[in-house]
Amino acid sequence: RKWGLSLGGELRQATARNPDRTVVIDEEGAELTYAELLDRAERTARAMRAALGVRAGDRVGVLCRNHHGLIETIVAATLLGADAVLVNTGLSAAQLATVAEEQRLRVLVHDAEFAERVVGLPAEVHRLDERAREELVAGASPGALRPPERDGRIIVLTSGTTGAPKGARRPTPHGFGPLVSIIDRIPLHAGDRVLIAAPIFHTWGFAALQVCFALRATIVLHRRFDPAATLAALTRQRCDALFAVPVMLQRLLEVPPPDPRPPLKVVAVSGSALPGGLAPRFMDVYGDVLYNLYGSTEVSWASIADPADLRAAPTTAGRPPHGTRLAILDTAGEPVPDGAVGRIFVGNEMLFEGYTSGATRERRDGLLDTGDLGRLDADGLLFVDGRADDMIVSGGENVFPSEVEDLLAGLPQVREAAVIGVPDPEYGQRLAAFLALHPGETLDPEAVREYVRHYLARFSVPRDVVFVRYLPRNATGKVLTRELRRYYT
Ligand code: ATP
Repeated sequence: RKWGLSLGGELRQATARNPDRTVVIDEEGAELTYAELLDRAERTARAMRAALGVRAGDRVGVLCRNHHGLIETIVAATLLGADAVLVNTGLSAAQLATVAEEQRLRVLVHDAEFAERVVGLPAEVHRLDERAREELVAGASPGALRPPERDGRIIVLTSGTTGAPKGARRPTPHGFGPLVSIIDRIPLHAGDRVLIAAPIFHTWGFAALQVCFALRATIVLHRRFDPAATLAALTRQRCDALFAVPVMLQRLLEVPPPDPRPPLKVVAVSGSALPGGLAPRFMDVYGDVLYNLYGSTEVSWASIADPADLRAAPTTAGRPPHGTRLAILDTAGEPVPDGAVGRIFVGNEMLFEGYTSGATRERRDGLLDTGDLGRLDADGLLFVDGRADDMIVSGGENVFPSEVEDLLAGLPQVREAAVIGVPDPEYGQRLAAFLALHPGETLDPEAVREYVRHYLARFSVPRDVVFVRYLPRNATGKVLTRELRRYYT
């Protein structure tokens, strides 16, 4: 048996061609070449097998922030033919217990900072720090690692915005087609230096890691996102690219830009909608380098907007890459005319194989239902209006929260805005706007309503205006609407 196309296999290929290139630089002072990373991952794999009994087909949970140990652990699991389950670091102890049980984790490898949250989990827990790893490795018997009897897969959990996180199985082999298509549409080159600020446990951060392996790139990692530290690192490490989530761009704009600006060629974001106005504001400061990728855990990526698209239409999600099919269908499954809103369906080689729970999503003609509503304009640009489930029906009229949110975010006092539908005896649902203001600012709710009334239809005006200090967000920066709903219960 040969080494397959697992992440471990990908690292092997990259290492064979570029053993001495630096693959990862992190805040813990690690600076490893491709050959060193592979060596460490192989030793970790041997130790995992000897000390923790991990075998092909087992599942290894990884609960880590972005650092070299996270990559080593994921690669090690797949080198053994085990599946790596990427666990969201924002999960509570109770959610972790559910994930450990549902995913039948054999081991959960975690950063020391999560020690309290993993107590009593139904899995063997292994704390990942340098000392623990050295001990683990020291106990392992040497010997070459043979290709496992099956390729280790990656299981990515959905972010759990709408409920409990669901495990989504990635196809094996990973299918480099869509990865290559992304690289095709973004001006990245072999050996570039990329700061991955998006969490690697999320589908977008993991895609970024795969793109970097495919490019034999150098990856710069920080455990947590800090705008000032990120800007400093982009300059110090001479990064060509930043992979982030939209809310990080907002945070970057809140600190003074360095002079000269970092030498970036690409800033790529995904994971949640780009709020209206953010793209031009960001590009005015950091140059025309922004790419917006639309995708999900289930479909990987579906479309890409480049800087010219975003200058022309600041909220567009762009066009599908080569090899990806995209259709906007009505409830009967028929394509809608240009400009009309419908359900977004996507087909590509990276579609997930199903949830680990056995549940799946509707497919039509080989295309998977994204659960999102959107439209295509006459030029073929995609606009994502949001999840079908988030659409508000107020007095029989449909309202997309994103439309109202984008408008509210345009008020100079508003730092961030979220809109949800709440039950209403008269209208079925009414709109509630949650606003976090810039420090020292105030707003009168009636002035907010008046402003919306000026631009949008009457049924789009939020009847409730709630001021909050900040919006609750998950690790990818998505607003946790279920937390906002709690305000009403
Ligand atoms: P859960 O299914 O558990 O609620 P989740 O769907 O939030 O989790 P993800 O797979 O991370 O988990 O989210 C994908 C969704 O994020 C997409 O279906 C879409 O609604 C939104 N999204 C991602 N990227 C973009 C983008 N560029 N523009 C607009 N929306 C986006």
